[in-house]
Amino acid sequence: MPPSSVNPPSADTGVDVVIVGAGFSGLYLLHRLRKQGLSTRCFERGDGVGGTWYWNRYPGARCDVESMQYSYGFDNELQQEWNWPEKFSGHADIRAYADHVTDRFGLRSHIDFETEVRAAHYDEGPRLWRIQTSTGEKITARHFVMAGGCISTAQIPNFEGLADYTGKTYHTGRWPHEAVSFAGLRVAVIGTGSSAIQAIPVIAQEAAHLTVFQRQANFTIPSRNHPMTADYADTWKNGYAEKRHEMRYMPNGVLRELNDKSALEVTEAERLATYEERWRIGGSGFLGAFNDIMTNREANDTMAEFVRNKIRQTVKDPVTAEVLCPKTHPIGTKRLCVDTGYFETYNRDNVELVDISQTPIDRLTGNGLTVNGRDFTFDAIVFATGFDAMTGTLFNVDIRGRGGLELKTKWAAGPRTYLGLMTERFPNLFMITGPGSPSVKSNMITSIEQHVDLVADTIIHMRDRGLAVIEPERAAEDEWVDHVQEVAYKTLFPQANSWYMGANIPGKPRLFMPYIAGVGRYRRICEDVVGEGYKGFRFEAEQAMAAN
Ligand code: NAP
Repeated sequence: MPPSSVNPPSADTGVDVVIVGAGFSGLYLLHRLRKQGLSTRCFERGDGVGGTWYWNRYPGARCDVESMQYSYGFDNELQQEWNWPEKFSGHADIRAYADHVTDRFGLRSHIDFETEVRAAHYDEGPRLWRIQTSTGEKITARHFVMAGGCISTAQIPNFEGLADYTGKTYHTGRWPHEAVSFAGLRVAVIGTGSSAIQAIPVIAQEAAHLTVFQRQANFTIPSRNHPMTADYADTWKNGYAEKRHEMRYMPNGVLRELNDKSALEVTEAERLATYEERWRIGGSGFLGAFNDIMTNREANDTMAEFVRNKIRQTVKDPVTAEVLCPKTHPIGTKRLCVDTGYFETYNRDNVELVDISQTPIDRLTGNGLTVNGRDFTFDAIVFATGFDAMTGTLFNVDIRGRGGLELKTKWAAGPRTYLGLMTERFPNLFMITGPGSPSVKSNMITSIEQHVDLVADTIIHMRDRGLAVIEPERAAEDEWVDHVQEVAYKTLFPQANSWYMGANIPGKPRLFMPYIAGVGRYRRICEDVVGEGYKGFRFEAEQAMAAN
């Protein structure tokens, strides 16, 4: 007999759990909860699954964690049967995988597509979440899980004249599903973050002319992507049990070679040889060349200068090369980009780089934009201008906890969570990879699986013990918020104006959002919290409700 539901029968269309999002978090959570006999509703604003990969279909969009690791580990048959065509998968292959998982585990019919959750208000009487969707449907749920992703609220800066521009516009994070052709067109790309750095080389091959507007130059490492070989896939598949376990305790949730030497304890020749070798291998593992790159500025400078010299060697025009050399932040303190032929693209005759670090875009015009009095004409503008990361998607839903407190109000000075999982005064609201957890500073699927398992286990723990409510204690939350900052400020990360700090959104409070002590350390902390009877959380029993 399947276990009974945690939600007492009611006249409302009530379920045990409402899930927002059918990306990798929502899909796995749906699978876990349904397997345990819990009733669910899962709402997804897109018309398909895959989350970030559903939306980010821009040319060149590709994951920079290799696919043998950027994939689910919860089901051995799944990881044995699936074949990845390349080392680092492109967006279409990752979507195909998400579709496969959805159908393999029978999840599709349990998802409401093209439906957004607009509001979720906690009702303290019956201790339920009252949820309203974009279709006007109202439902109640005992538990409410935000699984909408960390980087899913696309951001176009409020440029003067934005509405005047009559050409085509695109944002990398909301790319159309139908094919986009830039053939014969004059195209602008605004921004030089991870998305732009992947898109620029591909757009440049097609467009008649491409102009890139760069505010801050970025560090990027060649991906050295290549077709998957059977031998390589087999090494993973034959050792998945041990490898997945090891990954879960690695600093970034990725199995890679880390060097436990300081960059400053070796000779210059050894240091350069180490960088050279990691550059040859490619990928974001480059940062693991020495153990103090993210904590010691002098060590960091040696790596940064190595990359700048690679740029100077690659880009033929010395003026362009110097503009492309990042100097505003230590390497790694903004997301390290991974590319295919990025710097080489600036050697093409049809590509121009415009430095807007000193003279920002003045305004958009009917047919282009102006910078420092110079007019540019474009048939299409690609905004690669990023996202309101980590909190944007949470704030898109009108979430109110005890006493009608709005999440936005509680977090006015920055996100406050316990373990990046829950926030006090919002009982039974869980966030998958929320602010204050390793999330974006890790292999997202490793972190997603850990959070989903923790949330699903907690909901089942509550059901089995007749517990109606879980909520973090204020003191535990305060301590965690301080701890997240303390860890961040022992590193060089806060030296960059990054989206990790909320610095890319005007008016957003400056608080370092991800927890960067490492995925392994974080997992152990969570294991200890649960092992010590959910230390830092308080529960309320079902009985208390009956007595009310
Ligand atoms: P991003 O890193 O935030 O980059 C946004 C770019 O737009 C920056 O170059 C920024 O300049 C520029 N920009 C923003 N506002 C501007 C303005 N008003 N005028 C001129 N330029 C402006 O966004 P993203 O590239 O979309 O990447 C976001 C995150 O998504 C990444 O950090 C990564 O975590 C993830 N991602 C991952 C992959 C991958 O797996 N390979 C690929 C793409 C994205 P400033 O730097 O000066 O602020």
